[in-house]
Amino acid sequence: MNALPPAAEAATSTFMLDGRSIPFTPGQTVMQAATAAGIYVPHLCHHADFEPVGSCKVCSMQLDTSTAPRMVTACTLPAREGLVLHSETPAVQHDRQRLVQMLFVEGQHHCPFCEKSGACHLQAVAYHVGMVDTHFVHATTPHTVDASHPDVWLDRSRCILCELCVRASRDVDGKNVFAIGGRGARTTLLVNSASGLLKDSTVAATDRALSFCPVGALMPKRQGFAVPIGARPYDHADIAERQADT
Ligand code: SF4
Repeated sequence: MNALPPAAEAATSTFMLDGRSIPFTPGQTVMQAATAAGIYVPHLCHHADFEPVGSCKVCSMQLDTSTAPRMVTACTLPAREGLVLHSETPAVQHDRQRLVQMLFVEGQHHCPFCEKSGACHLQAVAYHVGMVDTHFVHATTPHTVDASHPDVWLDRSRCILCELCVRASRDVDGKNVFAIGGRGARTTLLVNSASGLLKDSTVAATDRALSFCPVGALMPKRQGFAVPIGARPYDHADIAERQADT
């Protein structure tokens, strides 16, 4: 008798997410298994093409344990038989919305004036989690704009420190142009060049690092507002409907 193929054997392993049994294969994270099952878990620093870093915490969900429930990040938690997770409770949704609101007040995210509006993952996740205000007082941490490069610009006031450009530049472009440096409120995106400026780095407007930026922080010049309102990715679709983009 033929043995079952590995995938079919592995599919017998499951965990529970919001009362639903989710199959997984060994090595998958909770995020990967949920996505494969057609469930959208809000996220910003996660992308299916890269190793997870768990920095934004937007995918946090509640894990039931034998003692007290605790919060975990779905993008970094390995799927295990018997896990019981909750992503859609009012408490989890409340905390997730607060996380997104904090990202808005930590930077300068003025959607009506931003070239990324309508295609911005932060804006789209904010809509998805039902955010209607920023709740917190805006931070006044100064940020710099690097417009030194002829074709690429970096507005650090819009950077959410997701590290996607860091990973993409290193792993896809093979350039290692970006890094995260500093501590606390002074944590910032660094450019790998003698001057610390884009103009002296090896970055190019065609680098995939730019296309992975989920917000309007790292963008090619002279392409702003190229797509008219109404034709942008999230003008008519919730980000949950466009999981493949993220
Ligand atoms: Fe993320 Fe964009 Fe900031 Fe890079 S520039 S860390 S991709 S938000």
